[in-house]
Amino acid sequence: MELYSGYINKLVDELAALPGIGNKSAQRLAFHLIGMPEDKVNRLANVMMEAKANVRYCSKCYTLTDNDICPICSNPNRNHKLIMVVENSRDLAAYEKTGKFEGVYHVLHGAISPMIGIGPGDIKIKELVERCAQDVDEVILATNSSLEGETTAMYISKLLKPMGIKVTRIASGVPVGGDLEYIDEVTLSRALDGRIEL
Ligand code: ZN
Repeated sequence: MELYSGYINKLVDELAALPGIGNKSAQRLAFHLIGMPEDKVNRLANVMMEAKANVRYCSKCYTLTDNDICPICSNPNRNHKLIMVVENSRDLAAYEKTGKFEGVYHVLHGAISPMIGIGPGDIKIKELVERCAQDVDEVILATNSSLEGETTAMYISKLLKPMGIKVTRIASGVPVGGDLEYIDEVTLSRALDGRIEL
């Protein structure tokens, strides 16, 4: 039975397919969008398309950026021999906010998760190994402390250690299963300072 117009149903379906949006939220958003002035809806649609068209991966660290090389990778004052590995650009932002890290990053865009079919080849691990073939002193594994994050850290460690690279893991203090982006800056700084060699 069609409760709403076909257009609203289509909109609800698309919104509900986004992460963290259930059917109820999708319906609420859909009705909100329909009630918005047309110029605001156009603006929203445009910024979405602009972001999609212009945002790309940094060709060094794979974070999301507007340029070929992101501002962190192109900063000569950062230590380019110290690489912190994070799961996504939101985690990178969380560490940047602490202002305590002077190295550069590598963004994996996910974590190994056999349960949902994400293997090492599906995230930016090969690219990390290629970067590490150059002059790198230390790789800090700052993946989440979830099962997937730990599995990923272990996997990378096994790849990099035979290459003679110092591999460290951020310390506890980050709660188990905790998403890095929600943890406060002090805790993140402590986790970084207390990192242990693997
Ligand atoms: Zn970069």
